Amino acid sequence: MSTPASLASGPEGPHALRPLLDTVLHALSEGALLRQGPLPAGGPDAVAARMRAAVGDVLPDQGEPNALHTVVRALAETAADPADPLCTAHLHCPPLALATAADLAVSALNPSLDSWDQAPGASELEALVTGALAREVFDPGTGGRGGIAARQVPTALITTGGTESNQVALLLAREARGAGVRLVHGANAHHSLPRAAWLLGLAEPVVVPAPAGALDPAALDEALTALPGPHLVAATAGTTDAGMIDPLPEIAAVCAAHGARLHVDAAYGGGLLFSDRYRDLLAGLDAADSVTLDLHKLGWQPVAAGLLAVRDAADLAVLHHRADYLNAGDDTEAGLPDLLGRSLHTSRRPDALKIAVTLKTLGRSGLGRLVEQVCDGAREFAALVHEHPGFELHDRPTLSTVLFRPAHAADDDVAAVRRTLLTDGRAVLGRARADGRLWLKVTLLNPRTRPDDLAALLTLVEGNTPR
Ligand SMILES: *Cc1c(COP(=O)(O)O)cnc(C)c1O
Repeated sequence: MSTPASLASGPEGPHALRPLLDTVLHALSEGALLRQGPLPAGGPDAVAARMRAAVGDVLPDQGEPNALHTVVRALAETAADPADPLCTAHLHCPPLALATAADLAVSALNPSLDSWDQAPGASELEALVTGALAREVFDPGTGGRGGIAARQVPTALITTGGTESNQVALLLAREARGAGVRLVHGANAHHSLPRAAWLLGLAEPVVVPAPAGALDPAALDEALTALPGPHLVAATAGTTDAGMIDPLPEIAAVCAAHGARLHVDAAYGGGLLFSDRYRDLLAGLDAADSVTLDLHKLGWQPVAAGLLAVRDAADLAVLHHRADYLNAGDDTEAGLPDLLGRSLHTSRRPDALKIAVTLKTLGRSGLGRLVEQVCDGAREFAALVHEHPGFELHDRPTLSTVLFRPAHAADDDVAAVRRTLLTDGRAVLGRARADGRLWLKVTLLNPRTRPDDLAALLTLVEGNTPR
């Protein structure tokens, strides 16, 4: 039995949830049928009108018992569905059903990771997951490739995503090197890095030009030579625009020569760690002081599933924080784990659960296979573009991003075809600037996408480019 005020946890929780889940699953199916495509048709005004009509009064005087069905169906009907092969603009992955189901358990139990007495087992699960993933980054057991000193223990924090991970990385650098630390990053770096410098009150970052899309070690060396330290260099393993990987071993050597701290933003590329075939592209990652990972990209988790891995757990000591009601000193001394230093948040969901279930169910090989499927798919798409006389390919893909454009089209036409397909709800393509021109961007994160889907995508673009 389920009433509107039934609770999700407790002995009756599962009984209350079961019929509601049935309702949700029906509403998801109905909504997808009504949408019929990767995106709702009609553009922002039409979609907003549909949502407004479905929801009506959000806060009526008397409740409406069907609201769960109505609102979930409306959300599904007006969603961008990353599981549709033609929804391929962003680093917006179709989540695994497995991870989504695990996440439901988190919503039901509602552990909160700000104190041990709200999350006794969840806090240990988080410690296990973060330890395992940090070792995967810094100490992958490949015969001494890792440069970890004996007293350094790698660990990781779970974050809401790459943006927060980059912020915390800058905070740790500021605490380790002082408020005068200067962020130095390539022009290809994610916008969240300069924004974090602004947020933390650091000096204006130094931007090293990256005309070829990756950070050039010689240009970095020049920038570090010209500017007094201390420096924090941020490199990227998997740029958001083109999926390129900065030359990490060379960048690490330049940083070592200048005594600069190194952060690698591997929000996109970090997933390659799971693949035997692609892992070598991340050589040098283990030389970083901190690494951003984002398992809601190449990890197929529902948002949020970010991590910040650090080579030395001692770096995190600066995050220690005391609030008597959560981690009183005598409680900590008596053995209650102190969780406040694991995050800048207070109440916090255990995103570690869905990650743990995924890692353990699929294993390294299962996740590696998904990574390989999308990277291989990008190579197939690039080959299709290359062979097609009507299209120009920007470059062979490194990860799973392909930039392409209709041959001889003006930038305005490239922008127009993307908006037409978006507005009609037929395909969701991204856009990126490279070599001074505008390109269409396909970011493959769907392991189910087949070559036929990619051929259909090209046909759609061809048929809708203004001429
Ligand atoms: C996606 C991305 C981010 C931001 O991650 P969020 O999870 O969206 O906050 C940061 N850096 C890179 C390289 C990214 O691709």
